Amino acid sequence: MGGITKGIIAELEKIVGSNNIITDDVELTVYEADGSFVYTAKPDVVVFPRSTEEVARVVRVAWENRIPIIGRGSGTSLSGGALPIEGGIVISLTRMNRVLELDVENETATVEAGGSLTYGLVMH
Ligand SMILES: Cc1cc2nc3c(=O)[nH]c(=O)nc-3n(C[C@H](O)[C@H](O)[C@H](O)COP(=O)(O)OP(=O)(O)OC[C@H]3O[C@@H](n4cnc5c(N)ncnc54)[C@H](O)[C@@H]3O)c2cc1C
Repeated sequence: MGGITKGIIAELEKIVGSNNIITDDVELTVYEADGSFVYTAKPDVVVFPRSTEEVARVVRVAWENRIPIIGRGSGTSLSGGALPIEGGIVISLTRMNRVLELDVENETATVEAGGSLTYGLVMH
C-alpha cells in the first residue's frame, strides 16, 4: 500500500465513515481505469466524501502525509485524467450529488461536484 499506513486508513475512515471507503484490492480494480481502458493505475484507497468539509479533511490528511490525491467523477474521461499514476487516494465525488439550489427565474442550478443534472425547467 505504498506510503499509506493502517493509521492513515483509519484516519480516512473516521472522516468519511466505514461505508464510504474502499481498500480491498479487488474492489480497487474498478478505479484503475477510466473510460479509455488504455492505461491502468490502481489507487491505494478510494474515499467517497459526502460534503465539502469531508473533502477538505481528506485533503488535509493527504497533505500532511505527502500522499497524492486525484479527483474522480464518473470516470468517463478518455485521456487517463482520473488515474492515480503515482498511487495514493482517489477522491470519488459520486456521493456528492445533491442539488443545492434551483433558481428558476435566472435558469441556474447550483449542484455538488459529483452530481449529474437532468432536470428540465418548466417555463411558465
Ligand atoms: C462514450 C463516451 C462519450 C463521450 N462523449 C462526450 C461528448 O460528447 N462531449 C464531451 O465533452 N465529452 C464526452 N466524453 C468525455 C467525458 O464525458 C468527459 O471527459 C467528462 O467530462 C468526464 O467526467 P467525469 O465526471 O466522468 O470525470 P472523470 O473521468 O472521473 O475525470 C476527468 C478529469 O476531471 C477530474 N475531475 C473529475 N471530477 C472533478 C471534480 N469534481 N473536481 C476537480 N477535478 C475533477 C479528474 O481528476 C480527471 O482529471 C465521452 C466519454 C465517453 C466514454
